[in-house]
Amino acid sequence: MDHEQAMRRAVELSRAVLGTTSPNPPVGAVVLDADGAVVGEGATQPSGGPHAEVVALAQAGDRAHTAVVTLEPCDHTGRTGPCSQALLAAGVRTVVVACSEPTAQAGGGVQTLRAAGVEVRTGILEDEVAAGPLAAWLHRQRSGRPFVTWKYAATLDGRSAAADGTSRWITGEPARADVHRLRAESDAIVVGIGTVLADDPQLTNRPDPGHQPLRVVVDSRGRTPQDAKVRDGSAETLVVTSPDGPVDLPALLADLARREVVSVLLEGGPTLAGAFLRAGLVDRVVGYVAPALLGAGPAALLDAGVGTIDDAVRLHLTDVTRLGDDVRLTLVPHDTRTRRP
Ligand code: ZN
Repeated sequence: MDHEQAMRRAVELSRAVLGTTSPNPPVGAVVLDADGAVVGEGATQPSGGPHAEVVALAQAGDRAHTAVVTLEPCDHTGRTGPCSQALLAAGVRTVVVACSEPTAQAGGGVQTLRAAGVEVRTGILEDEVAAGPLAAWLHRQRSGRPFVTWKYAATLDGRSAAADGTSRWITGEPARADVHRLRAESDAIVVGIGTVLADDPQLTNRPDPGHQPLRVVVDSRGRTPQDAKVRDGSAETLVVTSPDGPVDLPALLADLARREVVSVLLEGGPTLAGAFLRAGLVDRVVGYVAPALLGAGPAALLDAGVGTIDDAVRLHLTDVTRLGDDVRLTLVPHDTRTRRP
């Protein structure tokens, strides 16, 4: 297996642990022997557990020759020892890295390895990894705030409910299953009080009940009913009130960052999504569009601060996927895209 093939496998391994590693990055690692055969595979274990490199090296034993990792190996002693030292102790001759560690605190792994005589290749599949499994974590490292994905489902004419307020099953089963995957990859799910009062969602991740994101209700006047499903015991819940006006969204994200939240899934409704967009706090949009028309009923987005066409929030389309009869569009705001190095 060549380095690029091994990196693709490492990306797959890291994708499988998305949402389970925060505050640590979801990293994948593949260890090859001298002939290029895979002898070890690993991904970041939940916080306090071993890093990807350590898992893969343990499998490889004394056959370890080349280590292929999606993020620069750490060089500091945090809750576990530095991976740079683990790689040296395992006798690895070559290390292949996709993305550099953005913080000075954990960085320096590449330098340490080179100083010890290890051949290091960097930047292999870097763009793919930086826009993929590591996107949320890199964003959090650089900006200090969690990465926010706004997800919505709408009809072809952009409506999230019918005129009478009914909104169940706009999209089909494959799209709904995909939403559960998005939840599983997130550390927190944020909704507005309007969504709680209208739909009474439970906001849990059904495929893996062992890993549940934090549920956050933005509820300035404290109207979340005691028997609302978001208050059941199936996951932790935070009801954010603000008696003197609208909830301060940057302060909310700062609070979530202190709770070690790296990725936030904003699930609605339209007014809260508009507030996040107005504040420039949406980093990715995932829209599920159903082949149906309503002609009346609430829009998927309200009050985004756009009064004229020149002020439209322009997005860059990064993926289009058909899910059953529905289409999933993934987009990033233009400014976020240009901010990326
Ligand atoms: Zn490490």
